[in-house]
Amino acid sequence: MQTNPRIQGIVEKLKQAGCRITPQRLAILEVVTESRDHLTAEQIHALVAQRFPTTSLATVYKTVNLLRDEGELIELGFSGSAGTRYDGARPAPHPHLICVRCNRILDPEIRLFDELPGELTESYGYRILSHRIDIYGICPECQAAESRSQ
Ligand SMILES: [Zn+2]
Ligand SMILES: [Zn+2]
Repeated sequence: MQTNPRIQGIVEKLKQAGCRITPQRLAILEVVTESRDHLTAEQIHALVAQRFPTTSLATVYKTVNLLRDEGELIELGFSGSAGTRYDGARPAPHPHLICVRCNRILDPEIRLFDELPGELTESYGYRILSHRIDIYGICPECQAAESRSQ
């Protein structure tokens, strides 16, 4: 029934790990792997509850923690009002561009960042396992809103 090969792969992995795949869990899986918005657990819950109103927030947390432990999702903790966000669309470490006004979070496509781990290995001999690069700014929409209100 599922056509997305990545979701199928994750389902197989979870089944092998002994997890029961409920329709709610599958819906959470679909939301987190398809969204590029770096959702909070509450936002994931609200989207899944549109289809499965009985889904609990605890189920969302359990499922995202499971996916994180399986390397299928990254958890991003931010200080302040951005809170904890989940990125299941791109589970490998990558830089984030964060708007300090509206907490919008983007995955900037900058070639320099792709080359960074390789350069660090070359220059310092480290085998890079993970990294966290957060860049803060004010997005174009918030800049426009600020100039309108002045
Ligand atoms: Zn903004
Ligand atoms: Zn991301």
